[in-house]
Amino acid sequence: MLIVGLIGGIGSGKSTVAEMFCQLGAKRIDADQIGHEILQRPDIQIAARNRWGDSIFDANAKLNRKALAQIVFHPSETGREELRFLNFLVHPLITQKIEDQIRQFSESGSECCCLILDAPLLLENHWEKKIDYLIFVDASQSVRVARTQRRGWTSAELDARENTQLNINEKRRMADWIINNSGNLDETLDHVKEIWQNLQTLTRK
Ligand code: ATP
Repeated sequence: MLIVGLIGGIGSGKSTVAEMFCQLGAKRIDADQIGHEILQRPDIQIAARNRWGDSIFDANAKLNRKALAQIVFHPSETGREELRFLNFLVHPLITQKIEDQIRQFSESGSECCCLILDAPLLLENHWEKKIDYLIFVDASQSVRVARTQRRGWTSAELDARENTQLNINEKRRMADWIINNSGNLDETLDHVKEIWQNLQTLTRK
């Protein structure tokens, strides 16, 4: 089974492309989803409350990710320090969970030939060692601004988050394939199918 990493700028369409691969028969590990689940763990919530106080919890004592994002993506040295703390808290657990899921997939005897590791911070966390090939989902800055505005983000919020990540050109340069997802979904699906055909002919690195 091949393990293929999926990266790209924020709002580029990684989840959309991952879903297309799944429709063709791939399995997916969703690192964002794992991260969200880890933030719900009681031990992590205690550590978060100790660090950031009650203001990041709503009236039902549920961690408010938007409030936490405002702290850790604040474009200042304080923001960067808080993000380092959050990463220190959750990234080892996310890494562990990804490794567990990869192991479970490979031991399951599944017929599936390809596991997509949908992990925006794959390179930042050095998870490239876990994968065989890397796909970069590309979309222009203006398209990504428009897409993330639909979720209520300003372009400054998009910039603040992207500035905490490895440079987007550097990420693109590392990829084995680049999928242009600035156009319509049919065009993207055609490219996904092309890569899918290629993947059938490849073996693990
Ligand atoms: P994030 O970086 O936040 O995880 P993402 O890269 O996974 O985002 P998606 O969630 O797949 O991006 O896409 C962002 C938004 O853009 C979604 O609302 C999705 O439906 C839409 N979208 C993705 N691709 C296209 C496309 N080719 N045409 C139109 N809309 C698209």
